[in-house]
Amino acid sequence: MNPKKLVRPLVHGLHAYTPGEQPKIKGLIKLNTNENPYPPARPVLAAVRAAVDGRLRLYPNPTAEALRARLAELHGVGPEQVIIGNGSDELLALAVRAFVEPVTPGISASRSRVQYFNPSYSLYPVLADIHGASRNPVPLRPDFGLPTVKELRQSGWDFQAALTFVTTPNAPSGRGYATADLDALCARQKGITVLDEAYVDFAAENALALTHKHPHVLIARTFSKAYSLCFQRVGYLVGHPELITALDKIRDSYNVNGLGQVAALATLGQLPYYRANFARIIATRQWLGGQLAGLGFAVLPSATNFMLVQPPGPAAKTWLKELRARKILVRWFSQPEVSAYLRITIGTQAEAQTLVRAARQILRKK
Ligand code: PMP
Repeated sequence: MNPKKLVRPLVHGLHAYTPGEQPKIKGLIKLNTNENPYPPARPVLAAVRAAVDGRLRLYPNPTAEALRARLAELHGVGPEQVIIGNGSDELLALAVRAFVEPVTPGISASRSRVQYFNPSYSLYPVLADIHGASRNPVPLRPDFGLPTVKELRQSGWDFQAALTFVTTPNAPSGRGYATADLDALCARQKGITVLDEAYVDFAAENALALTHKHPHVLIARTFSKAYSLCFQRVGYLVGHPELITALDKIRDSYNVNGLGQVAALATLGQLPYYRANFARIIATRQWLGGQLAGLGFAVLPSATNFMLVQPPGPAAKTWLKELRARKILVRWFSQPEVSAYLRITIGTQAEAQTLVRAARQILRKK
């Protein structure tokens, strides 16, 4: 018997999400997965260490109660408006399962549509495919700005789509969007609209208030990037209690591991430390942008902890290899909209300086 035959045909046909590389090369400068270059605050590490004892045999709190209560307080909402996930990725997947019908004859096309801008977070199409839903990618403007309503209509945008994901600020472009523009878009959308604010702490404004105004809008946040906690896998959604209840019904009972809950809760007690880190990262982003522009790179404005740059001289893919040969890892995407660019995570100031030196060498400007 061939076990392969026992796998659903839909699963056979899937292309899994490709995460950024996590190589274990000594001395590598890792600017490819938008991790924070600064460690968690000391009290966060201490809280995690203190929790590593005989309690590991027990299940964690099933609803991450203390963390939800603290986040609710922070955002001025009720705890019934917050759900915690094993990273925000888990919650994006739950949203597809809770709000989108798999493509089924007799069901309107909009009910099975997962809609998103192109380019944006490359997980969304994978989630649609896993669920047997249909994808509706719609191009952003050439400068990665939001299209006008007229442009949206012309490019097949569906205002009735069951689920729309908006990465804001956008990834991989780094471009931030004005809350007023997101508000106008949300006001027209009839289906669930998830504003994926994974990088919002590095931006000038956030759109959390839109969850109060629009009952169909959910905000996705994560502790991974701004709060230096990728390893612990903690993210959350804020929105209308009815939507949160629906998501709560379909999640695993103990979806957020205990040490993750401890770490995230301790993080919320150290916000000034993290805010100082945002400021450092933003300062490095400005410095690096200026330096690379001086070397002839086209540098796109960024409201995130990474930036998209179009290198001069060799093709972007060649730059990827040249930088790697100098032990600097950045990200290159093969999709045509962004294949001329490199996405560079903002590291420490020292890492940025090393990157600029390497770029000079590659351009033989040293
Ligand atoms: N949204 C966006 C736009 C992201 O880039 C990422 C990280 N790859 C996530 C969500 C998920 O982050 P996490 O699961 O670590 O919370």
